[in-house]
Amino acid sequence: MHIQDIFAANATTLSFEFFPPKSPDAFDALYRTILELEPYLPHFVSVTYGAGGSTRELTHDLVLRIKTQTELDPIPHLTCVCHKTAEIDEILRRYAREGVGNILALGGDPPRIPGYCKADDDFQHAADLVRFIRKFNESGAHPDRRGFGIGVAGFPEGHPATPNRILEMDHLKQKVDAGADYIVTQLFFENRDFYDFRERCQLAGIDVPIVAGVMPVTSLSGLKRMADLAGGARFPAKLLRALQRCQDDPEGLTRVGIHYASEQCLDLLENKVRGIHFYTLNRSDATRQIYANLGLKNSRLGGGATPKKVGSGK
Ligand SMILES: Cc1cc2nc3c(=O)[nH]c(=O)nc-3n(C[C@H](O)[C@H](O)[C@H](O)COP(=O)(O)OP(=O)(O)OC[C@H]3O[C@@H](n4cnc5c(N)ncnc54)[C@H](O)[C@@H]3O)c2cc1C
Repeated sequence: MHIQDIFAANATTLSFEFFPPKSPDAFDALYRTILELEPYLPHFVSVTYGAGGSTRELTHDLVLRIKTQTELDPIPHLTCVCHKTAEIDEILRRYAREGVGNILALGGDPPRIPGYCKADDDFQHAADLVRFIRKFNESGAHPDRRGFGIGVAGFPEGHPATPNRILEMDHLKQKVDAGADYIVTQLFFENRDFYDFRERCQLAGIDVPIVAGVMPVTSLSGLKRMADLAGGARFPAKLLRALQRCQDDPEGLTRVGIHYASEQCLDLLENKVRGIHFYTLNRSDATRQIYANLGLKNSRLGGGATPKKVGSGK
């Protein structure tokens, strides 16, 4: 379904992110996770995209499998790094033929490939990719006359490559002006960073739904990996202290991480967040536990969910 229709029908969306595993065993485990999470009726699920050639095919394969074998609506990530225009065009054509409704357009993490040179990429920034998808949409090659719905990334605490936060907001605005329908944020642990980001977007004239990225800490190794992947994200002392108290108790640590993320989500819902995107790390337990803590059987928030006009707020 086009993302504009999803936001039009839901005051708040709940969604999950998966990454394509490299081994067949891990793929089977992920598929079990997906089946465990399917009854939670997320409004969409997204699938990350890697730098290497084979991982990229895995993104497509996972998206197609989710689309054809489950009731879930998959959104593939697509990145600028290491791509030529003709390749992106071919990828879009294939997704369009398969009826995939939306794409998350990203700059992409710099690949650890020897000799990689960003200047050789045809698309230097995510805004260029958004512009290209928009042009593709206008060509009428997609079964939906609007073409693909387009998402982009946002960074409540700032993106490390652009320390000038005013300039960074200009770059985000360029992505939205180029045709993005919504923003999904990097994970964060202080909701006030997200609220401030939302306000700064509003001041900049960015008027598309902003979906908050949430990832519970479930292990110390996971914490280190998160710090590595989510460059710029701060880890508040309150969270670190709580984790430190149970550092020798893995189950207690998981409970603390899930409790913290649940509190974050409760507060986001109270503050009328437009969507919460759960970084699942291909596991279902933490997400299911958070739903239980929120008193949710599934993603249909019911009662208070008044459909809003697209683009009418965050
Ligand atoms: C929700 C989400 C999902 C992600 N999924 C993936 C994934 O699947 N695969 C992956 O590899 N990575 C993924 N990432 C990581 C992301 O690709 C990197 O953090 C990347 O460095 C930034 O991506 P972007 O889309 O914001 O890029 P861009 O918008 O291109 O921005 C990257 C940097 O360039 C700066 N910039 C933008 N435009 C200009 C300009 N015109 N001139 C100068 N500087 C400019 C920005 O301020 C920023 O610092 C994800 C991140 C998020 C938040």
